[in-house]
Amino acid sequence: MQGIADELRSKGKRIGLVPTMGYLHQGHLSLVDEAKRHSDVVIMSIYVNPTQFGRGEDFDKYPRDLARDEEMASQKSVNYLFVPSDKEMYRDEHLAYVEVEKVSSLLEGEFRPGHFKGVASVVAKLFNIVKPHAAVFGQKDAQQAFIIKKMVEDLNFDVQIIVAPIVREPDGLAMSSRNVYLSPSQREQATVLYKSLRLAEKLVAGGEKDLVRSRAEMVKMITDSSDGKIDYVSFVDPKNFTKIESAKDLDEVQSLLAVRFGKTRLIDNMLLKTGKR
Ligand code: AMP
Repeated sequence: MQGIADELRSKGKRIGLVPTMGYLHQGHLSLVDEAKRHSDVVIMSIYVNPTQFGRGEDFDKYPRDLARDEEMASQKSVNYLFVPSDKEMYRDEHLAYVEVEKVSSLLEGEFRPGHFKGVASVVAKLFNIVKPHAAVFGQKDAQQAFIIKKMVEDLNFDVQIIVAPIVREPDGLAMSSRNVYLSPSQREQATVLYKSLRLAEKLVAGGEKDLVRSRAEMVKMITDSSDGKIDYVSFVDPKNFTKIESAKDLDEVQSLLAVRFGKTRLIDNMLLKTGKR
């Protein structure tokens, strides 16, 4: 892969990278479109990275179907698929990791300790292997996108980071490889996540500054209309990803949530414009 990247670069080609864990859906494919807008050659990586899964998480059960992914990627004219094995990515004794402090321990990091250390490290490895000029991430994983941008900025990676909007099902559910785990009833109930974000959007746009109150309304909506178990419903200042309880003096706030339906854990988020009362 490094040899190919060197050759492309020597020909003056701009490389765009789309990192994924496979089991592709329209959300992933929208990142490919975005990558095409910023590069000449699109490389998609498919790698279910063991170091970002905690004990008891779904690493073994994560959906995988390389033949289907290959078909979808080729229909989208992805130029190269990079599908490394665990053995290639992590040799016998792997000791070096990248950590983005503070923001990695909130929200997702609180419920998935070590997750972002695994994510930042594997993305750093992919950048060194694929040597992209630009890399595209989804807003679906907003905290991940923030952490990657911070890593790139703080460690001077020479890669342009592009964040693409969330692609949703017609009923609002954010597309995710994990949606296939949902039973029909859970699938129906899961639409409440988007509805609760829309509720927050309406409250905040209507001038509500008290985010504790908005959060309570979201939690009520989720618990009243589903069996979902909430890990968190939170608000952050999107500029620095710190938790906030008031929208005062901010033009935008970001609402993020994680809810479990049975064994399936879903995340979603929305950037909310604040309104004057
Ligand atoms: P994953 O395969 O889940 O690791 O996701 C790979 C990339 O696709 C990440 O940058 C995700 O944020 C992005 N992604 C996943 N789902 C969506 C979606 N519904 N809309 C946009 N981007 C997404």
